[in-house]
Amino acid sequence: MLLIGIDGADYRITRWLMQQGCLPNLAELACRGAWGPMRSTVPPVTPPAWTTIMTGKNPGKHGVFDFLAMNEAERAVPVAARRRAATLFRGLSDMGYRVGTFNLPVTYPPEPLSAFQVAGFTAPQFSPAIAWPERAFELLRDAPADFASLLELTAPGRDERQELQRRAELVTLGTRLLLEHFPCDVYMTNFQVVDWAHHHALAREMTPGKPESLDLRGLVAHAYRAVDEQIGIILDEWATEGTYVMVVSDHGGALVDRVVNLEKLFLEAGLLAYKPADAERAVAIGRGRARARTAVGLWRWYKEAMPTFARLTAPVARGLRPYVTSYQKSLVVDWSCTLAAPWGLYGQVRFNVAGRDAEGIVRPEDVGALRTQVRELLLSVTDPVEGRPVYDEVLDGSQIYTGAYVAEGPDLVALAREERYLTVCGRMLEGDALPLIDVQEQIVAAVESRCDFHSYEAVFCVAGPGIEAGKRLPEHRLEDFAPTVLCLLAEGVPSDMDGRPILEAMSEELRKHKQVRFVAPWPALGDGEQGTPHGVYTEAERDAMEERLRGLGYL
Ligand SMILES: [Zn+2]
Repeated sequence: MLLIGIDGADYRITRWLMQQGCLPNLAELACRGAWGPMRSTVPPVTPPAWTTIMTGKNPGKHGVFDFLAMNEAERAVPVAARRRAATLFRGLSDMGYRVGTFNLPVTYPPEPLSAFQVAGFTAPQFSPAIAWPERAFELLRDAPADFASLLELTAPGRDERQELQRRAELVTLGTRLLLEHFPCDVYMTNFQVVDWAHHHALAREMTPGKPESLDLRGLVAHAYRAVDEQIGIILDEWATEGTYVMVVSDHGGALVDRVVNLEKLFLEAGLLAYKPADAERAVAIGRGRARARTAVGLWRWYKEAMPTFARLTAPVARGLRPYVTSYQKSLVVDWSCTLAAPWGLYGQVRFNVAGRDAEGIVRPEDVGALRTQVRELLLSVTDPVEGRPVYDEVLDGSQIYTGAYVAEGPDLVALAREERYLTVCGRMLEGDALPLIDVQEQIVAAVESRCDFHSYEAVFCVAGPGIEAGKRLPEHRLEDFAPTVLCLLAEGVPSDMDGRPILEAMSEELRKHKQVRFVAPWPALGDGEQGTPHGVYTEAERDAMEERLRGLGYL
């Protein structure tokens, strides 16, 4: 069985490019199999989404709600070490399948699978620590190719197209090296370049919500094409007629032109507070604020003055950023009088509850009233340009997630009316920094140049014996991926997985043959039970990781 991830592949963009004849290999796969959209997790970001693909469970059961944990103690713990549910790969390894994965996001530190695991995005650096067993790392290290660059996602080299092409080819090359040495019954790999191209170029190459406006000669289309070409090579080399092939993405790409500064909103509403600064610090903060204002002012002036030299102004923006960042870092949340704080980029809110959070002050009996107050506040946020509400709906965490770890996630999530709104949240950066609180005048601000972020519409495709040819599937969920793999292997689906096998993709005969069986849950994982020590990024690794996330616009 061959499983292929395309991080960030958007359903609507993929469909459009397929219709334009740009993705012949994916189109052929969809033609001889079944394909359709898949709903990403809330929020639609890589760590919860990929963890859901790998476990068949929602974040409430696997405990991964975003890049960083919502408590200070676990902030430096990599995602895979925070995952509390068994992966499909572990389960299949235990059943005796030879299982290998290469370049999957959020698999660092790697699991000791039956064949191998080489971690992708979020692994700190190209070192023996990213692979199990070490031989897998050596194979890549000793090859005449720069596998280290697979983990580098920041500013591209001089020729962006060549760089994308080369990184897509590295996935095929690594697959060849690893599968020659470690034959597998189930193998999964992943391409990171589509997400990378979205973050770098979608804004200048597509009109929001209009995939048909995508520049077919642009970088984004080029990334999709490069991946399609490599998928063709991988299928030629490793898929026989009896092989099941599945393609999946974790989320799609969308364009954002409004930032919502919920921290400012919460601060003004008295829900959130800064630590009172001592006299000395107050002076330093005052100076920092002045510098940050000047930096933002200069940045805007440069952008206006030199619109045709956008590339020239980028280094200026980068140069000014430290002044804003250092100012943000000097602002510390005072949890002793903070009731609720926004969290993350997708309208998440966390209450500061006594007995649950380290410095919690909200009494459990007051949570209900606070919930009502914050919900009303969020629903009152309007777009200053359009005069319409920003948020359609504000849901409780328990309405979105189920499972033992729901309390570790957001207490409320405000779902934006359109994809164009993004929450800014600087606390992801350091744990205590607040962004642009008083250099940004409005709570909802239009950003001059659109930036690209994630959509909820991911892609799914399956082909192989007994799969209905040319079938268009209705929307499924990422949770359905792992149960579908198990069902096609004629294995039982653990009863605590949230997803269900995608039976619509299967012919009647296959359905009879592969009857869905539910089995007892796989053992859950506690801290450090992955077979590797409970990994923690070193300070240098964490800095490097943050730099990479910043390069993608996450921070
Ligand atoms: Zn992703």
